[in-house]
Amino acid sequence: SGRLARARAIVKEIEEKCETPIAKLQLVADDMMAEMHAGLADEGGSKLKMLITYVNNLPTGHEKGLFYALDLGGTNFRVIRVQLGGKEQGVVKQEAEEVSIPPHLMVGSSHVCETLELFDFIAKRLAKFIASESEEFKLPEGRQRELGFTFSFPVRQISLASGTLIKWTKGFSIEETVHSFHLFFINAHISLQVGEDVVAELNKAIERQGLDLHVTALVNDTVGTLAGGRYYDNDVHASVILGTGTNAAYVERADAIPKWHGLLPKSGEMVINMEWGNFVSSHLPLTEYDLSLDAESLNPGEQIFEKLISGMYLGEILRRVLLKLAKEASLFGDIVPPKLSIPFILRTPHMSSMHHDTSSDLRAVASKLKDVLEITNTTLKTRKMVVEICDIIIKRGARLSAAGMVGILKKQGRDSGEKQRFVIAVDGGLFEHYTLFRECLEGSLAEILGTEVASFVIITHANDGSGIGAALIAASNSQYS
Ligand code: ADP
Ligand code: MG
Repeated sequence: SGRLARARAIVKEIEEKCETPIAKLQLVADDMMAEMHAGLADEGGSKLKMLITYVNNLPTGHEKGLFYALDLGGTNFRVIRVQLGGKEQGVVKQEAEEVSIPPHLMVGSSHVCETLELFDFIAKRLAKFIASESEEFKLPEGRQRELGFTFSFPVRQISLASGTLIKWTKGFSIEETVHSFHLFFINAHISLQVGEDVVAELNKAIERQGLDLHVTALVNDTVGTLAGGRYYDNDVHASVILGTGTNAAYVERADAIPKWHGLLPKSGEMVINMEWGNFVSSHLPLTEYDLSLDAESLNPGEQIFEKLISGMYLGEILRRVLLKLAKEASLFGDIVPPKLSIPFILRTPHMSSMHHDTSSDLRAVASKLKDVLEITNTTLKTRKMVVEICDIIIKRGARLSAAGMVGILKKQGRDSGEKQRFVIAVDGGLFEHYTLFRECLEGSLAEILGTEVASFVIITHANDGSGIGAALIAASNSQYS
């Protein structure tokens, strides 16, 4: 029919605009490398912040003792304790508790006291967590408990245990429970932006609870993931988060950071938090859908790479394409399904279950369209088209992520056959759950690098690396060691 032909033409155009042939990915990787150099040269020298993390001692596997971590800044908030037994015993025991934050703390009306209240809330939960500790966790006599704090937003640090917020990412304002965490950060922004030290505030709240515990390391989730990966594998040199947002960190030579005027650390190394979500390049395949998504976002012009790649946005891109098809090709009938006009209603997990539908009549696609968008009576052809669009959007995101990784390899001179392992620890819900994304990412990496080089570049899933990684960084930088 004419409708379908019109729809096909639109999809074909999207497909062409989203194409990422290897030559293009190489250009993206080259730009990533160039921006890395620029960001290391000067503060503000690039859209890539290339933040100095003050993590110059990564875990070796020899760490011993009881350490804590607090993971805040994603879709969940967790407290972790880990008993480390040194080289022989490794992780003796590990426990985690997930705590949901009461909505009133997230969307309270008086902005000024929100951070305070949140940190008090966290400190109370920490106190509870410690009070319930079994005897298997042992703290040597006279020793204070040490905690690594994972905070997945860009922070300007002046030491391992202090930092002020630079900007909020991943934020958007939609009143829905799943998004309330992000909503909280938008509100908390107001009380944290004055350059308050995140660690000092948390330590004060902990003191108010009378807890004998100290925050000794503030780490980004990418850095935690890097540390968590390194603990198990000495060849982990970089990490990537593919979750709600996306970011990367890697180990740099301390003397290759011109903007750093401090003393060179003994190790000669420094972990750099790239904040790669903010990367932008003229070679990125941006479509009208991406441009409008960006323009209508809370941070227009920022986090462009993230808006093409991460779990927060992929479902939303799909929604925008489907809306266009509904409006201009009447793909779902004469009227545009009202739900389709609601921003962020279609989430990446919905998209994933449609994309992975292997039933001959695409039942999962039909049921998601119905449940999420109240679209019924679709034809098989229409459902196939939806899957096709999922594929286009996911391939582009996965291939661009691979190009970003190649940028890091290029920067480190590890893209041309060193015959040494270079392991990238990856974590995040998108990587973990979206199988087709992950497979495409791995395949593209091999395609860009060539099979010879690719055989030495290994992607590992650092499951929950960011949480335990923060505890490990607290351990390898312990005041007692
Ligand atoms: P965060 O990045 O907020 O710390 P996670 O790493 O757990 O949290 O990632 C959560 C994100 O992963 C979600 O926002 C979503 O985009 C994506 N995700 C979660 N589950 C799935 C799924 N089943 N399929 C695809 N994507 C998923
Ligand atoms: Mg996370």
